[in-house]
Amino acid sequence: MGLKIFLDGKIVDEKDAKISVFDHGLLYGDGVFEGIRSYDCLIFKLEEHIERLFRSAESISLQISMSKEEIQQAIIDTLKANGIRDGYIRLVVTRGMGDLGLDPQKCEKPSMFIIADRIALYPEEYYIKGLKIIIAKTKRNSVKSLPPKVKSLNYLNNILARMEATQAGVVEALMLNEEGYLAECTGDNVFIVKDNELITPAVEAGALEGITREIVMGIARDKGIRTEEKFIRTEELFKADEVFLTGTAAEIIPVTEVDGKVVGSGGAGKLTVDFINEFRNLIKTEGVKYAL
Ligand code: PMP
Repeated sequence: MGLKIFLDGKIVDEKDAKISVFDHGLLYGDGVFEGIRSYDCLIFKLEEHIERLFRSAESISLQISMSKEEIQQAIIDTLKANGIRDGYIRLVVTRGMGDLGLDPQKCEKPSMFIIADRIALYPEEYYIKGLKIIIAKTKRNSVKSLPPKVKSLNYLNNILARMEATQAGVVEALMLNEEGYLAECTGDNVFIVKDNELITPAVEAGALEGITREIVMGIARDKGIRTEEKFIRTEELFKADEVFLTGTAAEIIPVTEVDGKVVGSGGAGKLTVDFINEFRNLIKTEGVKYAL
């Protein structure tokens, strides 16, 4: 039996959840999306995700036809329809059906669908021993062509970078911007810890305004740890005391090797472990509850 999918106002069977071949989301990657987690019937940071969805949509002049409250309800309905307590929610808004030309004015109505599925987690071992990653040759989109705050359906260069990772036998790749500064990984933000300070690439360097990134900076500030968003050179990565990645799916995950070279202590750093523990407390309280 397949999943139940929310598609344009209705919950339908997976086999009936179909989008037109003329949808500009498919033809041109013209759309935006969110990846959200539910933990034990709590949709973690749901409001923040919906806010970011609206900001992304607004940046590409895409009018979402549902209100924030309606979207929240649609997500809950989809989780309930699938009996999911712990899961991953993919919320997608496309420009909708148009013609073969680029003009988005031809797309009369955006399409929205929500998939709620069980989540495939990274093995626990990665959180203890850390991830090995590479620096990809594929660059992050220029902030001048696509503002990184737009979580768009255009992930082709991230996919190319991810293919480089697979080729190198690792599961993530760090993408630099055109000037060679760190931007982010293909599906995660990146952080370094140096001399007890928490540093992450600035949005202007090509980082998505990650929800998990925001949470980690909040935890750090509460602990009195200095935080900085800036332009980071790769040399700083190799001199860092700790390196870790953040994302909705990965949560917080230590990085111990980059391009075959050990970074930090070669294991999960002390602050990284603190952040992981604090984060695991937050997922019990910070979000919207639902009952199955
Ligand atoms: N960067 C990219 C390119 C991503 O796809 C993601 C995952 N959505 C992130 C960063 C992390 O963002 P968040 O913490 O909001 O999941």
